[in-house]
Amino acid sequence: MKVIVVGSSHGGYETVRGILKQNPDTEIQWYEKGDFLSFLSCGMQLYLEGKVKKVNSVSYATPEEMEKQGVAVYLQQEITKIDAAKHEVEVVSHADGSTRTEKYDKLVLSAGAVPTHIPVEGSDLENIYAMRGRDWAIKLKAKTVDPDVNNVVVIGSGYIGNEATEVFAKAGMNVTVIDILPRVLGTYLDPEFTDILAKNMEEHGVKIAAGETVKKFVGKGGKVTQVQTDKGTYDADLVIEAAGVRPNTKWLNGIVDINKDGTIKTDEYMQTSAKDIFAVGDATHIKFLPTDGEAHISLATNARRQGRIAALNLEKPVKKFPGISGSSALTVFDYKFASTGIKDATAKAYNANVKSVYVTDSYRPKFVPADENPTVYFKLTYNADNHQVVGAQIMSKADVTADINAISVAIQAKMTIEYLEYADFFFQPGFDRPWNIINVAAQKAVDENK
Ligand code: FAD
Repeated sequence: MKVIVVGSSHGGYETVRGILKQNPDTEIQWYEKGDFLSFLSCGMQLYLEGKVKKVNSVSYATPEEMEKQGVAVYLQQEITKIDAAKHEVEVVSHADGSTRTEKYDKLVLSAGAVPTHIPVEGSDLENIYAMRGRDWAIKLKAKTVDPDVNNVVVIGSGYIGNEATEVFAKAGMNVTVIDILPRVLGTYLDPEFTDILAKNMEEHGVKIAAGETVKKFVGKGGKVTQVQTDKGTYDADLVIEAAGVRPNTKWLNGIVDINKDGTIKTDEYMQTSAKDIFAVGDATHIKFLPTDGEAHISLATNARRQGRIAALNLEKPVKKFPGISGSSALTVFDYKFASTGIKDATAKAYNANVKSVYVTDSYRPKFVPADENPTVYFKLTYNADNHQVVGAQIMSKADVTADINAISVAIQAKMTIEYLEYADFFFQPGFDRPWNIINVAAQKAVDENK
């Protein structure tokens, strides 16, 4: 069997790994249009902050290692056309401009997503950057030490925007964050959390322009100098756009069925509408367990799971995609947070009838000195009708993010607040309290429903 895998980031990498595990004798051709294999943007902040020194180490695979395992790796080679009936792809080499055709038995697409470029006046000015992939990582790194950069405007305060904000604030620059939503991290956390985070960001010198829409980039000598919104004007020597991504699927129109939002339609086996073509990663929808529906959630974890499942199903459908809860975590200056599933802020968009309980408590027992015992903020969200847990958010100066993995499993197992009320969690004063905050919140939720 000959399998062609398109894209070398999380989804493509995991597909290749899965095929090698499943059936190492498969002929695998792995294509990446960029000049580097498997750059992982998730590690970009660590590189930009100098914690990881070499940009090329932010990767899981090298061509040499993969070729030793029998994988044929093609860099700077883009799949530009697919003839699904003939089981053929067109390959364009960006190294020498040549074009050729390759046959496949199975094709796996992990072509990912591209950052949204805001289409307003001045968008072609220099120094308007994105934060995705190795090329932008290298360019951004240069800006972290560029003496001409004093004012940085970050557009978008999701987790990528927040990573950019922290990098440039720590590099000593004046950072302004603009977001169309009225709060930073508005789709990740509810106001109980973002109010604290916004204050902390301001304490670290970040200016927040939330609830503002970018109208224009102003420039001088071809370079950006200001960003104008509907409410203000902000000086900018560098702009980083982190206002979302769009699936990289225009080139697939007419080949596979595409959803309204541009993502590729797949079934639960990661099979597209075209025979023997599979799709995974940011370019697809994913089964979202809190609603038992679908969602578009761009996460490496999702792409990885989909890639592994696609690899299992290439020869025949054997394993359905189990679904995800949409869990992610981030450090924002002094705080660490994680969230999963539905929040009050996103319930309407998911058409979900939910209730939530919010609790705060100390990280460790009260007798532990305050400087080692920060507050933990936790919110548990559950289905108002059947009490199944559908989401949670946690935040503290201590690292309590792993609790969200427990909630993610609870969502997957369709556990209720009544189940979590007395669920067993460890206690040791170095890490926790006799009642984990999950128990505390579930108990409060049960009481509120008596
Ligand atoms: P992509 O990463 O978009 O990769 C697609 C690849 O395919 C690219 O390399 C592209 O060049 C190549 N390609 C596209 N079209 C073709 C073609 N026609 N022919 C050949 N090659 C092609 N997620 C987390 O879970 N945790 C994190 O901490 C996290 N941090 C992140 C930080 C940043 C700064 C960013 C930008 C993202 C982060 N993510 C994180 C999200 C995560 O990186 C993505 O969800 C993940 O990379 C998606 O993988 P993918 O394979 O679908 O696509």
